[in-house]
Amino acid sequence: MDESTLLIGLCRSLAMSALVILGYSRVIQATTGAVAGNIGVGFLFAAAGILSMNDPVIFAPGVFYDGRVPILALAYTFSGLAGAMITAIVLGGYRIWLGGAGVYAGLISISVTAAAGIAVGMIPNRFFRQRLGRPAALSAAATMSTVSVLALPHLSVASFNYHAVMLIMIANPIGIFLLHDFLSNEGKRMRLFRALEHDAAVDPLTKLVNRRAFDAKAALALSLGHNPNGEYSVIMIDIDHFKAVNDTFGHDTGDTVLMNVASIIAASVRKADIVARFGGEEIAVLLPGLGSQKAAAVAEKIRLRVEANIVTSQAGGVSVTISAGASATNIHRTEVAEALKAADAALYTAKRSGRNRVEMAFAA
Ligand code: GH3
Ligand code: MG
Ligand code: MG
Repeated sequence: MDESTLLIGLCRSLAMSALVILGYSRVIQATTGAVAGNIGVGFLFAAAGILSMNDPVIFAPGVFYDGRVPILALAYTFSGLAGAMITAIVLGGYRIWLGGAGVYAGLISISVTAAAGIAVGMIPNRFFRQRLGRPAALSAAATMSTVSVLALPHLSVASFNYHAVMLIMIANPIGIFLLHDFLSNEGKRMRLFRALEHDAAVDPLTKLVNRRAFDAKAALALSLGHNPNGEYSVIMIDIDHFKAVNDTFGHDTGDTVLMNVASIIAASVRKADIVARFGGEEIAVLLPGLGSQKAAAVAEKIRLRVEANIVTSQAGGVSVTISAGASATNIHRTEVAEALKAADAALYTAKRSGRNRVEMAFAA
Protein backbone atom coordinates (compact mmCIF):
# COMPACT_ATOMS: atom_id res chain seq x y z
CA MET A 1 0.00 0.00 0.00
CA ASP A 2 1.38 3.40 -0.92
CA GLU A 3 1.26 6.44 1.34
CA SER A 4 -1.15 8.54 -0.70
CA THR A 5 -3.79 5.78 -0.67
CA LEU A 6 -3.31 5.50 3.05
CA LEU A 7 -3.51 9.28 3.51
CA ILE A 8 -6.72 9.50 1.47
CA GLY A 9 -8.12 6.58 3.44
CA LEU A 10 -7.29 8.25 6.75
CA CYS A 11 -8.84 11.54 5.64
CA ARG A 12 -11.94 9.66 4.57
CA SER A 13 -12.29 7.97 7.91
CA LEU A 14 -11.85 11.30 9.69
CA ALA A 15 -14.46 12.91 7.44
CA MET A 16 -16.82 10.07 8.27
CA SER A 17 -16.42 10.67 11.96
CA ALA A 18 -16.99 14.39 11.40
CA LEU A 19 -20.58 13.49 10.52
CA VAL A 20 -20.98 13.30 14.25
CA ILE A 21 -20.87 17.10 14.45
CA LEU A 22 -23.91 17.42 12.21
CA GLY A 23 -25.93 15.20 14.50
CA TYR A 24 -24.60 16.53 17.80
CA SER A 25 -26.73 19.66 18.20
CA ARG A 26 -29.77 17.88 16.80
CA VAL A 27 -29.52 15.14 19.43
CA ILE A 28 -29.05 17.67 22.25
CA GLN A 29 -32.00 19.74 21.01
CA ALA A 30 -34.24 16.70 20.57
CA THR A 31 -33.57 15.35 24.08
CA THR A 32 -34.59 16.87 27.38
CA GLY A 33 -32.31 16.36 30.36
CA ALA A 34 -28.60 15.67 30.57
CA VAL A 35 -28.85 11.86 30.85
CA ALA A 36 -31.07 11.47 27.79
CA GLY A 37 -28.76 13.83 25.88
CA ASN A 38 -25.70 11.79 26.90
CA ILE A 39 -27.33 8.52 25.88
CA GLY A 40 -28.38 10.07 22.55
CA VAL A 41 -24.89 11.45 21.88
CA GLY A 42 -23.40 8.07 22.91
CA PHE A 43 -25.45 6.32 20.22
CA LEU A 44 -24.56 9.05 17.73
CA PHE A 45 -20.84 8.52 18.44
CA ALA A 46 -21.36 4.77 18.10
CA ALA A 47 -23.12 5.26 14.74
CA ALA A 48 -20.29 7.49 13.47
CA GLY A 49 -17.76 4.91 14.68
CA ILE A 50 -19.59 2.14 12.81
CA LEU A 51 -19.71 4.26 9.64
CA SER A 52 -16.00 4.88 9.92
CA MET A 53 -15.24 1.20 10.66
CA ASN A 54 -17.13 0.34 7.48
CA ASP A 55 -14.67 2.37 5.44
CA PRO A 56 -11.29 1.34 6.79
CA VAL A 57 -7.77 1.47 5.41
CA ILE A 58 -6.83 -2.17 5.08
CA PHE A 59 -3.25 -3.23 5.89
CA ALA A 60 -3.71 -6.96 5.73
CA PRO A 61 -6.75 -9.27 5.72
CA GLY A 62 -8.57 -8.61 8.99
CA VAL A 63 -6.19 -5.83 10.04
CA PHE A 64 -7.32 -2.26 9.32
CA TYR A 65 -7.27 1.30 10.49
CA ASP A 66 -10.31 3.60 10.78
CA GLY A 67 -11.52 6.72 12.60
CA ARG A 68 -12.78 5.02 15.75
CA VAL A 69 -9.94 6.26 17.98
CA PRO A 70 -10.88 10.00 17.90
CA ILE A 71 -14.54 9.10 18.51
CA LEU A 72 -13.78 6.79 21.43
CA ALA A 73 -11.27 9.21 22.93
CA LEU A 74 -13.82 12.06 22.89
CA ALA A 75 -16.92 10.07 23.89
CA TYR A 76 -16.64 10.73 27.64
CA THR A 77 -15.90 14.44 27.24
CA PHE A 78 -19.02 15.01 25.14
CA SER A 79 -21.44 12.34 26.34
CA GLY A 80 -20.44 11.47 29.91
CA LEU A 81 -19.93 8.00 31.34
CA ALA A 82 -23.22 6.61 29.96
CA GLY A 83 -22.41 7.85 26.45
CA ALA A 84 -18.81 6.61 26.59
CA MET A 85 -19.95 3.15 27.73
CA ILE A 86 -22.55 2.99 24.95
CA THR A 87 -19.98 4.03 22.33
CA ALA A 88 -17.39 1.50 23.56
CA ILE A 89 -19.84 -1.40 23.90
CA VAL A 90 -21.49 -0.83 20.51
CA LEU A 91 -18.15 -0.44 18.70
CA GLY A 92 -16.68 -3.44 20.55
CA GLY A 93 -19.69 -5.54 19.55
CA TYR A 94 -19.42 -4.34 15.98
CA ARG A 95 -15.69 -5.18 15.89
CA ILE A 96 -16.45 -8.73 17.06
CA TRP A 97 -19.14 -9.02 14.41
CA LEU A 98 -16.68 -7.89 11.70
CA GLY A 99 -14.31 -10.67 12.77
CA GLY A 100 -10.91 -11.32 11.19
CA ALA A 101 -7.41 -11.78 12.55
CA GLY A 102 -7.35 -8.43 14.33
CA VAL A 103 -10.40 -8.95 16.58
CA TYR A 104 -8.45 -9.12 19.82
CA ALA A 105 -6.24 -6.21 18.85
CA GLY A 106 -9.36 -4.27 17.85
CA LEU A 107 -11.08 -4.95 21.16
CA ILE A 108 -7.96 -3.97 23.09
CA SER A 109 -7.67 -0.76 21.07
CA ILE A 110 -11.35 0.06 21.68
CA SER A 111 -11.21 -0.56 25.44
CA VAL A 112 -7.87 1.15 25.95
CA THR A 113 -8.95 4.23 23.97
CA ALA A 114 -12.31 4.44 25.75
CA ALA A 115 -10.59 4.10 29.16
CA ALA A 116 -7.99 6.74 28.20
CA GLY A 117 -10.80 9.06 27.08
CA ILE A 118 -12.66 8.55 30.37
CA ALA A 119 -9.52 9.07 32.48
CA VAL A 120 -8.52 12.30 30.72
CA GLY A 121 -12.17 13.39 30.49
CA MET A 122 -12.48 13.20 34.28
CA ILE A 123 -9.67 15.72 34.79
CA PRO A 124 -11.34 19.03 35.78
CA ASN A 125 -11.19 21.96 33.36
CA ARG A 126 -8.97 24.03 35.68
CA PHE A 127 -6.05 21.70 34.94
CA PHE A 128 -6.20 22.71 31.29
CA ARG A 129 -5.25 26.37 31.13
CA GLN A 130 -4.73 26.23 27.37
CA ARG A 131 -7.73 25.77 25.13
CA LEU A 132 -6.01 22.89 23.39
CA GLY A 133 -4.83 21.30 26.64
CA ARG A 134 -7.55 18.69 26.85
CA PRO A 135 -7.38 17.51 23.21
CA ALA A 136 -3.60 17.34 23.57
CA ALA A 137 -3.92 15.18 26.69
CA LEU A 138 -6.57 13.04 24.97
CA SER A 139 -4.30 12.58 21.94
CA ALA A 140 -1.39 11.57 24.15
CA ALA A 141 -3.55 9.14 26.12
CA ALA A 142 -5.09 7.71 22.95
CA THR A 143 -1.65 6.69 21.65
CA MET A 144 -1.89 3.95 24.28
CA SER A 145 -4.29 2.25 21.86
CA THR A 146 -1.22 1.32 19.81
CA VAL A 147 -0.36 -1.30 22.45
CA SER A 148 -3.05 -3.28 20.68
CA VAL A 149 -0.60 -4.10 17.87
CA LEU A 150 1.03 -6.45 20.34
CA ALA A 151 -2.09 -8.59 20.11
CA LEU A 152 -1.87 -8.79 16.32
CA PRO A 153 -0.74 -12.06 14.73
CA HIS A 154 2.97 -11.92 13.89
CA LEU A 155 2.47 -11.63 10.14
CA SER A 156 0.08 -8.75 10.48
CA VAL A 157 2.57 -6.76 12.54
CA ALA A 158 5.06 -7.24 9.75
CA SER A 159 2.59 -5.72 7.29
CA PHE A 160 2.73 -2.40 9.14
CA ASN A 161 5.34 -0.19 7.60
CA TYR A 162 7.08 2.75 9.20
CA HIS A 163 5.21 5.37 7.14
CA ALA A 164 1.83 3.82 7.82
CA VAL A 165 2.45 3.81 11.57
CA MET A 166 3.61 7.43 11.43
CA LEU A 167 0.51 8.47 9.49
CA ILE A 168 -1.78 6.75 11.96
CA MET A 169 0.06 8.38 14.85
CA ILE A 170 -0.56 11.76 13.20
CA ALA A 171 -4.08 11.06 11.98
CA ASN A 172 -5.49 10.21 15.41
CA PRO A 173 -4.43 13.48 17.10
CA ILE A 174 -5.61 15.48 14.07
CA GLY A 175 -8.99 13.73 14.34
CA ILE A 176 -9.11 14.36 18.08
CA PHE A 177 -8.18 18.06 17.74
CA LEU A 178 -10.65 18.70 14.91
CA LEU A 179 -13.56 16.83 16.47
CA HIS A 180 -12.88 18.35 19.89
CA ASP A 181 -12.75 21.85 18.43
CA PHE A 182 -15.94 21.45 16.39
CA LEU A 183 -17.91 19.78 19.16
CA SER A 184 -16.89 22.24 21.86
CA ASN A 185 -17.72 25.17 19.57
CA GLU A 186 -21.07 23.58 18.81
CA GLY A 187 -21.68 23.09 22.54
CA LYS A 188 -20.78 26.73 23.25
CA ARG A 189 -23.01 27.94 20.44
CA MET A 190 -25.92 25.92 21.78
CA ARG A 191 -25.46 27.08 25.36
CA LEU A 192 -25.36 30.68 24.13
CA PHE A 193 -28.46 30.14 22.01
CA ARG A 194 -30.33 28.66 24.98
CA ALA A 195 -29.26 31.53 27.24
CA LEU A 196 -30.45 34.10 24.68
CA GLU A 197 -33.68 32.21 24.17
CA HIS A 198 -34.21 32.15 27.93
CA ASP A 199 -33.40 35.86 28.33
CA ALA A 200 -35.79 36.75 25.52
CA ALA A 201 -38.64 34.90 27.22
CA VAL A 202 -38.11 35.26 30.98
CA ASP A 203 -38.43 38.37 33.14
CA PRO A 204 -35.29 38.56 35.31
CA LEU A 205 -37.06 39.99 38.39
CA THR A 206 -40.00 37.63 38.78
CA LYS A 207 -38.61 34.73 36.68
CA LEU A 208 -42.01 34.61 34.98
CA VAL A 209 -42.26 34.47 31.20
CA ASN A 210 -43.16 37.64 29.32
CA ARG A 211 -46.14 38.37 27.11
CA ARG A 212 -44.51 37.11 23.92
CA ALA A 213 -43.56 33.79 25.48
CA PHE A 214 -47.04 33.59 27.06
CA ASP A 215 -48.67 33.87 23.63
CA ALA A 216 -46.47 31.13 22.17
CA LYS A 217 -46.93 28.83 25.16
CA ALA A 218 -50.68 29.48 25.26
CA ALA A 219 -51.06 28.53 21.59
CA LEU A 220 -49.31 25.23 22.26
CA ALA A 221 -51.12 24.52 25.54
CA LEU A 222 -54.52 25.13 23.90
CA SER A 223 -53.80 23.15 20.74
CA LEU A 224 -56.14 20.22 20.12
CA GLY A 225 -53.54 17.63 21.08
CA HIS A 226 -52.94 19.19 24.49
CA ASN A 227 -56.43 20.42 25.35
CA PRO A 228 -58.94 18.36 23.38
CA ASN A 229 -62.23 19.86 24.61
CA GLY A 230 -60.96 23.42 24.15
CA GLU A 231 -62.09 24.66 27.55
CA TYR A 232 -59.79 27.15 29.31
CA SER A 233 -59.69 30.13 31.65
CA VAL A 234 -57.49 33.17 32.04
CA ILE A 235 -56.94 35.24 35.16
CA MET A 236 -55.57 38.78 35.17
CA ILE A 237 -54.03 39.79 38.47
CA ASP A 238 -52.92 43.27 39.58
CA ILE A 239 -51.40 44.27 42.92
CA ASP A 240 -53.56 46.81 44.80
CA HIS A 241 -52.09 50.23 45.52
CA PHE A 242 -48.64 49.07 44.54
CA LYS A 243 -47.48 52.60 43.88
CA ALA A 244 -48.06 53.32 47.58
CA VAL A 245 -45.80 50.36 48.50
CA ASN A 246 -43.00 51.87 46.41
CA ASP A 247 -43.63 55.33 47.80
CA THR A 248 -43.70 54.17 51.42
CA PHE A 249 -41.08 51.40 51.52
CA GLY A 250 -38.91 52.15 48.52
CA HIS A 251 -38.54 50.60 45.10
CA ASP A 252 -36.34 47.72 46.30
CA THR A 253 -38.97 46.55 48.78
CA GLY A 254 -41.52 46.98 45.98
CA ASP A 255 -39.39 44.62 43.87
CA THR A 256 -39.28 42.06 46.69
CA VAL A 257 -43.05 42.25 47.13
CA LEU A 258 -43.54 41.77 43.39
CA MET A 259 -41.18 38.77 43.39
CA ASN A 260 -43.08 37.28 46.33
CA VAL A 261 -46.47 37.72 44.68
CA ALA A 262 -45.11 36.16 41.47
CA SER A 263 -43.83 33.09 43.30
CA ILE A 264 -47.06 32.71 45.28
CA ILE A 265 -48.99 32.70 42.00
CA ALA A 266 -46.59 30.28 40.33
CA ALA A 267 -46.80 27.93 43.33
CA SER A 268 -50.62 28.06 43.37
CA VAL A 269 -51.19 26.68 39.88
CA ARG A 270 -50.52 23.39 38.10
CA LYS A 271 -47.43 22.67 36.02
CA ALA A 272 -49.46 22.86 32.82
CA ASP A 273 -50.74 26.35 33.65
CA ILE A 274 -48.87 29.37 32.29
CA VAL A 275 -48.03 32.36 34.50
CA ALA A 276 -46.66 35.48 32.81
CA ARG A 277 -45.71 39.01 33.79
CA PHE A 278 -47.50 41.26 31.35
CA GLY A 279 -45.65 44.36 32.53
CA GLY A 280 -45.57 46.45 35.69
CA GLU A 281 -47.29 44.54 38.49
CA GLU A 282 -49.77 42.81 36.24
CA ILE A 283 -49.66 39.04 36.00
CA ALA A 284 -51.70 36.77 33.72
CA VAL A 285 -52.47 33.08 34.25
CA LEU A 286 -53.72 30.64 31.63
CA LEU A 287 -55.51 27.55 32.94
CA PRO A 288 -56.08 25.01 30.17
CA GLY A 289 -59.09 22.73 30.75
CA LEU A 290 -60.52 24.71 33.66
CA GLY A 291 -64.07 26.08 33.70
CA SER A 292 -65.30 29.17 35.52
CA GLN A 293 -65.84 27.61 38.97
CA LYS A 294 -62.38 26.08 39.16
CA ALA A 295 -60.74 29.21 37.73
CA ALA A 296 -62.53 31.34 40.34
CA ALA A 297 -61.32 28.96 43.06
CA VAL A 298 -57.71 29.23 41.84
CA ALA A 299 -57.95 33.05 41.76
CA GLU A 300 -59.45 33.09 45.25
CA LYS A 301 -56.73 30.79 46.56
CA ILE A 302 -54.09 33.16 45.15
CA ARG A 303 -55.87 36.17 46.64
CA LEU A 304 -55.94 34.61 50.13
CA ARG A 305 -52.31 33.49 49.96
CA VAL A 306 -51.09 36.94 48.88
CA GLU A 307 -53.16 38.59 51.59
CA ALA A 308 -51.60 36.32 54.24
CA ASN A 309 -48.04 36.87 53.02
CA ILE A 310 -45.83 39.38 54.83
CA VAL A 311 -42.59 40.69 53.36
CA THR A 312 -40.08 41.99 55.88
CA SER A 313 -38.40 45.29 55.14
CA GLN A 314 -36.24 47.67 57.14
CA ALA A 315 -39.35 49.75 57.82
CA GLY A 316 -41.29 46.72 59.07
CA GLY A 317 -43.61 44.12 57.57
CA VAL A 318 -45.27 44.83 54.25
CA SER A 319 -48.35 43.08 53.02
CA VAL A 320 -50.30 43.68 49.87
CA THR A 321 -53.50 42.46 48.32
CA ILE A 322 -54.37 41.67 44.76
CA SER A 323 -57.41 42.12 42.59
CA ALA A 324 -58.19 39.54 39.93
CA GLY A 325 -60.44 39.22 36.93
CA ALA A 326 -61.11 35.80 35.44
CA SER A 327 -62.70 34.68 32.22
CA ALA A 328 -63.71 31.11 31.39
CA THR A 329 -64.37 30.17 27.79
CA ASN A 330 -63.57 27.75 24.98
CA ILE A 331 -60.86 28.13 22.34
CA HIS A 332 -63.37 27.18 19.63
CA ARG A 333 -65.37 30.26 20.61
CA THR A 334 -62.84 32.78 21.90
CA GLU A 335 -59.22 33.61 21.07
CA VAL A 336 -56.87 34.00 24.05
CA ALA A 337 -56.50 37.73 23.32
CA GLU A 338 -60.29 38.17 23.63
CA ALA A 339 -60.43 36.15 26.85
CA LEU A 340 -57.62 38.31 28.26
CA LYS A 341 -59.60 41.45 27.39
CA ALA A 342 -62.65 40.05 29.18
CA ALA A 343 -60.52 39.14 32.22
CA ASP A 344 -59.01 42.62 32.16
CA ALA A 345 -62.47 44.18 32.19
CA ALA A 346 -63.41 41.96 35.15
CA LEU A 347 -60.20 43.05 36.90
CA TYR A 348 -61.23 46.66 36.37
CA THR A 349 -64.59 45.86 37.97
CA ALA A 350 -62.79 44.24 40.93
CA LYS A 351 -60.72 47.40 41.37
CA ARG A 352 -63.77 49.66 41.20
CA SER A 353 -65.71 47.52 43.66
CA GLY A 354 -63.11 47.97 46.39
CA ARG A 355 -60.06 45.80 45.42
CA ASN A 356 -58.78 42.63 47.16
CA ARG A 357 -61.41 40.58 45.32
CA VAL A 358 -61.97 38.25 42.38
CA GLU A 359 -64.46 39.07 39.63
CA MET A 360 -65.63 36.70 36.92
CA ALA A 361 -66.16 38.02 33.41
CA PHE A 362 -69.51 37.37 31.78
CA ALA A 363 -69.33 34.24 29.68
CA ALA A 364 -67.77 35.20 26.36
P1 GH3 B 1 -54.20 49.88 41.73
O1 GH3 B 1 -54.72 49.30 42.99
O2 GH3 B 1 -55.23 50.72 41.05
O3 GH3 B 1 -53.63 48.88 40.86
O4 GH3 B 1 -53.05 50.88 42.16
P2 GH3 B 1 -51.53 50.80 41.79
O5 GH3 B 1 -50.81 51.82 42.55
O6 GH3 B 1 -51.04 49.40 41.95
O7 GH3 B 1 -51.62 51.06 40.23
P3 GH3 B 1 -50.75 51.77 39.18
O8 GH3 B 1 -50.88 51.03 37.89
O9 GH3 B 1 -51.11 53.24 39.13
O10 GH3 B 1 -49.27 51.65 39.66
C1 GH3 B 1 -48.49 50.54 39.45
C2 GH3 B 1 -47.14 50.81 40.05
O11 GH3 B 1 -46.33 49.67 39.96
C3 GH3 B 1 -46.40 51.91 39.36
C4 GH3 B 1 -44.97 51.45 39.31
O12 GH3 B 1 -44.13 52.32 40.03
C5 GH3 B 1 -45.01 50.13 40.00
N1 GH3 B 1 -44.17 49.15 39.33
C6 GH3 B 1 -44.28 48.64 38.10
N2 GH3 B 1 -43.30 47.75 37.84
C7 GH3 B 1 -42.53 47.70 38.94
C8 GH3 B 1 -41.34 46.97 39.30
O13 GH3 B 1 -40.79 46.18 38.55
N3 GH3 B 1 -40.84 47.17 40.55
C9 GH3 B 1 -41.42 48.05 41.41
N4 GH3 B 1 -40.86 48.19 42.62
N5 GH3 B 1 -42.52 48.75 41.11
C10 GH3 B 1 -43.07 48.59 39.90
MG1 MG C 1 -51.87 47.87 40.77
MG1 MG D 1 -51.17 47.99 37.23
